[in-house]
Amino acid sequence: MSPLFPSLYAAEPREAVRFGELSLTHAELAGAAGSLARGLAGAGRVAVWATPTPQTVVGVVAALVAGVPVVPLNPKTGERELTHIVGDSEPTLVLASPDDQLPPALTELTRIDVPLTGVVTELPPEPGAESAALIVYTSGTTGPPKGAVLPRRALAATLDALQGAWGWTADDVLVHGLPLFHVHGLILGILGPLRRGGSVRHLGRFSVEGVTRELSAGATMLFGVPTMYHRIAEAVGRDRELAKALAGARLLVSGSAALPAPDRRRIAEATGRAVIERYGMTETLMLCAARADGGARPGTVGVPLPGVELRLADEADGIGEIQVRGPNLFSGYLNRPDATAAAFTEDGWFRTGDMASRDEDGQVRIVGRKATDLIKSGGYKIGAGEIENALLDHPGVREAAVTGEPDADLGERIVAWVVPTDPQSPPEKAELANHVATQLSPHKRPRVVHYLPELPRNDMGKIMKRALHV
Ligand code: ATP
Ligand code: MG
Repeated sequence: MSPLFPSLYAAEPREAVRFGELSLTHAELAGAAGSLARGLAGAGRVAVWATPTPQTVVGVVAALVAGVPVVPLNPKTGERELTHIVGDSEPTLVLASPDDQLPPALTELTRIDVPLTGVVTELPPEPGAESAALIVYTSGTTGPPKGAVLPRRALAATLDALQGAWGWTADDVLVHGLPLFHVHGLILGILGPLRRGGSVRHLGRFSVEGVTRELSAGATMLFGVPTMYHRIAEAVGRDRELAKALAGARLLVSGSAALPAPDRRRIAEATGRAVIERYGMTETLMLCAARADGGARPGTVGVPLPGVELRLADEADGIGEIQVRGPNLFSGYLNRPDATAAAFTEDGWFRTGDMASRDEDGQVRIVGRKATDLIKSGGYKIGAGEIENALLDHPGVREAAVTGEPDADLGERIVAWVVPTDPQSPPEKAELANHVATQLSPHKRPRVVHYLPELPRNDMGKIMKRALHV
């Protein structure tokens, strides 16, 4: 396999990462990571306390260079979940920044403070393509997080497929405001630019002002989750500088969850730019992406990336479960042979648990998760997403989630969980139901509407539907 980071080996003098005042060139990163890597050789697995800092980048790259599997840890994880993750993944070392206070769950581990400088004369030879590069825990949206073992070839396959779809080059500068312990923020947002020899500017904490500042200063791409684009959509109508900055970007990409149609529309109206979507999972890395050169239809996630085989299983009314094969797939869940076996069909396809349809030209439309987003009501199969979009189109609705609950007559009835724009005077519940019925069709009207002050979300901003109950 070719090296994961060719420009690191070439030790280029151009900026690789910047976090506020701190920045490292590819050459500096190679020096710091390369010298740290020497101390990691032979360690079983290394945990990284994944704060949004250059130390996290150096730590992850050092472990990848040393060929030691890395477990990125979410610093906001509670003690119980952290104990579970550490017990499950059994790292021997934890890499941190000098200022980090590590919690009790990590006190048994040997701590190494990551340096930002170092000299390296020679990097060790690259490990084999199948060796584990990262163990990434899933987002925990539908249950306790599972550790996905990601081999080097999966990282290379996914990043190279995205390069093709997005025309991603060494000249691209990415604006990044995501955490560094999931696939989106770490693999796409950090390892992506490093593999291309390009650069990334991390905002530390996402802000609309930060996006405006970096795009105005010449950054070319923005990767975000829908909650970020929602904040952009709320601001863009009255913030001319933001609109101008977005209009000048080469690529605006959303992923990790469905981008609500009203947010995409507001951004397009104010900037003339389309936010494009890509779809993937921790276990499979990227599966589909809209191409940068256009043609993506709103509401789709584009087409399967090169190398990805995708089929819709048990298709009924044009909707089936997405099943996939390809070099981008994980090698299994850590310590969970049963869960790994259950995730694959007998003929070797990975079951994503996501439902989709395909347009005539092959573009994939995600309907939602089989377990929580497909409601069987009155003989119809109804996707929660289109009802959520219809609700969001009502001026009295700020946020919306739709679920199904058992119903003696209908099988399941449609339940809407709504954060009203004005909590003092939420819309009439009957009015919301009628709004959905007229926008979509009568059988898609919510039978029950609950008002909430906010929706339960995880740290990727994903709505945790399992936490929605009265
Ligand atoms: P867990 O598996 O722990 O319950 P999770 O599935 O949210 O959590 P991830 O692997 O981070 O963990 O997320 C993958 C899921 O995110 C996909 O299965 C899909 O449901 C959703 N997703 C990702 N991108 C998109 C997108 N563009 N549109 C709709 N859904 C998306
Ligand atoms: Mg999942």
